[in-house]
Amino acid sequence: MEVEIKSVKKEDNVLTATLGLIRQSVELAELSADVYEHLQTPMRFIEVAVPVEMDDGKIKVFTGYRSQHNNVFGPYKGGIRYHHNVTTDSIKALSMWMTLKCSLVDVPFGGGKGAVVCDPYSLSQKEKEKLTRGYVRALGSFIGPETDIPAPDVATDAQVMAWIADEYSTIMREPSFGVVTGKPLAVGGCVGRKEATGRGCFFVTREAAKAFNIPFEHARIAIQGFGNVGSNAAILFAEAGSPIVAVSDISGGIYNSEGVDIYSLLQHVEETGFVKGFPGCEEITNDELLAIDCDVLIPAALENQITGTNADQVKAKIVIEGANGPTTPEADQILKSKNVLVVPDILANSGGVTVSYFEWVQNNYGFRWDLETVNRRLEEKMIDAFKMVYGFYCERCNGFDMRTGAYMYSIQRLAEAMHYRGWLRNGTHKN
Ligand code: GLU
Repeated sequence: MEVEIKSVKKEDNVLTATLGLIRQSVELAELSADVYEHLQTPMRFIEVAVPVEMDDGKIKVFTGYRSQHNNVFGPYKGGIRYHHNVTTDSIKALSMWMTLKCSLVDVPFGGGKGAVVCDPYSLSQKEKEKLTRGYVRALGSFIGPETDIPAPDVATDAQVMAWIADEYSTIMREPSFGVVTGKPLAVGGCVGRKEATGRGCFFVTREAAKAFNIPFEHARIAIQGFGNVGSNAAILFAEAGSPIVAVSDISGGIYNSEGVDIYSLLQHVEETGFVKGFPGCEEITNDELLAIDCDVLIPAALENQITGTNADQVKAKIVIEGANGPTTPEADQILKSKNVLVVPDILANSGGVTVSYFEWVQNNYGFRWDLETVNRRLEEKMIDAFKMVYGFYCERCNGFDMRTGAYMYSIQRLAEAMHYRGWLRNGTHKN
């Protein structure tokens, strides 16, 4: 279950916001205008109709999208979400964030994102399978291990990835599991992939706490969203001893100033489906969670959660964006004026695509790494990425936030690759 997207104000359109940030970062880094020209639109945007015979015998035609933003570094890469509230603009923005994310953590992929407009929770397993296979058939050879590699995202999981791998292999008439990552272990998945985004958030939080001189084991954490990212990060914080004072999901939130017992909460969610009703905690709303007295706030649900309306209430010293796009530009400005460090999504949640890359490498080589190797390599990558971006931000972004630093750093790397591939007229920088 994910927290619902709120009604989005026109100025909170994620595509408009992302384009504004990309443009600003290109200018601040004094890069060639050609760089912005390449990044301002997906290289390919696909819309497909996916007919499914539903359990009641009726045919329903779903709309699917795949945005292939940029492949200067390698095959397009990014998740597929099943959600009723996706728009072409949000999918385009999400694919742009993947381009920036892959560049930032230095994995040789471009950016892509897909979606099917549906209510995933009302579909039976059989309907979900038919929908997934239909979507893959509709995309045909626009995806592939060297072309475009999907992965899990909101409301899609390892089972959905396995159907994608199977349908694609059937089309290609050979097992071709490298077409998708986040698969079950039995069909070429990678140990630790499921937990990777949450684990990456955990490493980044630890580094950010260090930079802010907050003793990590005492850092009070609040997590919005208890899906794959939020719950896996929570387990690691609990193991490290950091008190998790508040957690929320679509049902609302819970608060305990002494810290919520995460293992019992996981059990409760397993039994009831929601965090609501967990004993020994005060019930709070999602908005109250964002305003909780804590050191670290982790929005790990959907876009546009911290906005111009509620950012002023945030009491955390650090915000770690486990979700993609949870903070609007207006909120960014307010948080910056309050000296809150926002560790941007393209860094904070890049653990998922990093281990997706490890999975793809293993698929290509037909070789398996053990969990210790995966987690160690993930930790190295996340620490390196944090240090590079934070260092760059401290040095170069006087007056700007860490998101701007991350964008500038990432886009500079993209510009260099564009230059060598001959996509720019007169070098990477403005003349
Ligand atoms: N959906 C995840 C993200 O937004 C993972 C993408 C991937 O592994 O390709 O980063």
